Amino acid sequence: MAVAPEGSGGRPAAASPHGDFNLGLGLGEEDAVVLARREGLADWLGVPVVTARQVHGTHVHPVPAAPQDPTEVPTADGLVTTSTEVGLVVLAADCVPVLLCDPHHGVAAAVHAGRAGVVGDVVGRAVAAMVGRGAQVTDLRAVVGPAVCGSCYEVPAELAAQVVAAVPETRSRTRRGTAALDLPAGVGAQLFAAGVRQVCHLGSCTLEDPRWYSHRGVPQGRPAGRHGGVVRLLRAS
Ligand SMILES: [Zn+2]
Repeated sequence: MAVAPEGSGGRPAAASPHGDFNLGLGLGEEDAVVLARREGLADWLGVPVVTARQVHGTHVHPVPAAPQDPTEVPTADGLVTTSTEVGLVVLAADCVPVLLCDPHHGVAAAVHAGRAGVVGDVVGRAVAAMVGRGAQVTDLRAVVGPAVCGSCYEVPAELAAQVVAAVPETRSRTRRGTAALDLPAGVGAQLFAAGVRQVCHLGSCTLEDPRWYSHRGVPQGRPAGRHGGVVRLLRAS
């Protein structure tokens, strides 16, 4: 399992609106440039990669093998595979990227959990999809990647109350004392509830740490780039 190659791309450079690491399409950068970057990721990984069109939903899409047609993009917020010949990519820029694997039974997943995904428990659905393909929750390992933290993710009080009613662990306050949500904490609670005990929280805030892209870190109306996490199964052990 790896989280790559997100680093040091979070601030714009002169040549590109998002620096050298944006993996998201349709964000003011030429598609060909972004697709070449994804190819570079696949080269680094040694196998083709699949990147979903993420829609803040809860669908977990099975990826049985490396895609024949790289332009075929599933619409989903979770990808799951048992193949060692494909890498699963999750994109984010404040939302929570989660990578999962059961190295013993050979099942992996990549999950995008924003506010709606946390309310819909997309992470729990991904775990269920993995178990349905032979994973054992006691063997599952998860990495919770960089996301906007509970001190930075300010939301209207009414919205916070709605989310907290669904996932109490998201309750938070900004440093100024206003209503906020802690999505990584919510994801952590959902992983725990699903039985996953081997969890690594990177604990890095996308708004505070300039290594990451941040939707909230760019002026309103301008798109942020997207960093990516990728997981690939090696031979089941
Ligand atoms: Zn923060």
